Amino acid sequence: MADEFTSGTVWLVGAGPGDPDLLTRKAERLIGRASVIFYDALVGKGVLALVPPGVRLVSVGKRSGRHSKDQKSIDALIAEAALAGERVVRLKGGDPAIFGRATEELDACRASGVPVHVCPGVTAASAAAASLNLSLTLRGLARRLTFLTAHARAGEELELDWQALADPQATLAIYMGKAAAPRVSAKLIAAGLPPSTPVVLVENASLPDERHFATRLDLLPLAARTALGDGPAVILVGQAVAGAGKALTSAAVRELTAD
Ligand code: SAH
Repeated sequence: MADEFTSGTVWLVGAGPGDPDLLTRKAERLIGRASVIFYDALVGKGVLALVPPGVRLVSVGKRSGRHSKDQKSIDALIAEAALAGERVVRLKGGDPAIFGRATEELDACRASGVPVHVCPGVTAASAAAASLNLSLTLRGLARRLTFLTAHARAGEELELDWQALADPQATLAIYMGKAAAPRVSAKLIAAGLPPSTPVVLVENASLPDERHFATRLDLLPLAARTALGDGPAVILVGQAVAGAGKALTSAAVRELTAD
């Protein structure tokens, strides 16, 4: 496989949720063979520590609201590096194919005639479920798993098919959902999902500073506002996550917000 990584090629590589042990062996090999690596803000420090000395390591980090490089510049950078004969790894948090803007980068490479491949990674929702020792699907109870982003483009309202999402037999894995938590909660309840639907928020899944909070759909806005820090967080909704950790009850929320 490593021999496939010839000069002038781009690999979009999933870095997983942060813990370097959750990298695929293929990802690790590609990282070890790259001449230049463009990485996102969400790529774990432990993963970056695996980069051999001498490899050019370029941060193109994007965190919501603090874009250091726009997507078009990143697309151009990786294609140009490949055209200059580099072995390019584009290292992205989680799985590049899930809310990872992979399409733009694949298209940019193809448009420049640059060979491009994808190495999958462990997505945040999978890491979160593993940390909680639970399954995202549940025989007979959660037959559907929906990955969704609750991030609206600047200046745009978050428009989702709430009716379709409010399925009591589905698990929702909500990415980039912290800011939109109040709207998600209100819209899902208005569309018929019971206010008591179990919810769990997992911040920094797989990292040493991981935190989780179990709550219910009607208390989600409060939990997102008070219980989460600055780290990336995934919100899991549905019967499959019932019983995850200690429930964040109204009493616990009052305690959290006391000072
Ligand atoms: N491609 C990534 C998702 C990128 S979108 C993946 O497959 O995981 C960025 C969002 O992913 C964050 O806002 C957060 O919702 C989620 N996320 C990424 N890493 C995370 C982590 N370690 N813990 C919890 N959520 C995470």
